[in-house]
Amino acid sequence: MNLILLGPPGAGKGTQAQLLADKHGLVQLSTGDMLRAAVKAGSEIGKKAEAIMKSGGLVSDEIVIGIIADRIEQPDCAKGFILDGFPRTLKQADALGSLLTSKGKDLDAVVEIKVDDTILVSRIENRARETLAAGGTVRADDNAEALKTRLMAYYRETSPLVGYYYAYRKLQTVDGMAPIADVSAQIEAVLKGAAKA
Ligand code: ADP
Repeated sequence: MNLILLGPPGAGKGTQAQLLADKHGLVQLSTGDMLRAAVKAGSEIGKKAEAIMKSGGLVSDEIVIGIIADRIEQPDCAKGFILDGFPRTLKQADALGSLLTSKGKDLDAVVEIKVDDTILVSRIENRARETLAAGGTVRADDNAEALKTRLMAYYRETSPLVGYYYAYRKLQTVDGMAPIADVSAQIEAVLKGAAKA
């Protein structure tokens, strides 16, 4: 089962991707996590990505497509994967399509986690506050200024993918305003449908 989770920052993609990965033994591929690891490791990619990520902008298509192309080839991805945070642009979506075709793979579903725009800012601010209270490190891009840029990047670059995957007949939408367990149940229902198709 190969899936994409689509939705704005704060929609809950990471949370749902992890639940799905645990439940179904799929590999979670989060470009955000991979890039943060590269920044931490101080690799060439990390050096290129750090300032852009901090500002909330998008890292170049070339970099993220390269990361995903390498990762999807790894043997553990053969059992299926969940893309969380990729693709984020039409160019990335086209590249993913070509990549999967060349490997004889396909997408089973693209799940859009739909949330009201007005709650995104408060969700991310709460996440930052909770992380601080727990003594953790708040993400460098979880601040008001970077958040504005992240939302803008989503609406300008990523939201057209909803129409793109609809046209490919891959899009399934779930209500991301529901409690976490309900969102999971909706996604499970989508997967059952996709498995039958
Ligand atoms: P969010 O919670 O905003 O969805 P992520 O953890 O998915 O955050 O990504 C954090 C940052 O990493 C993004 O704001 C962007 O700078 C970079 N990034 C992650 N995935 C991609 C991608 N597919 N294309 C370009 N930049 C990306």
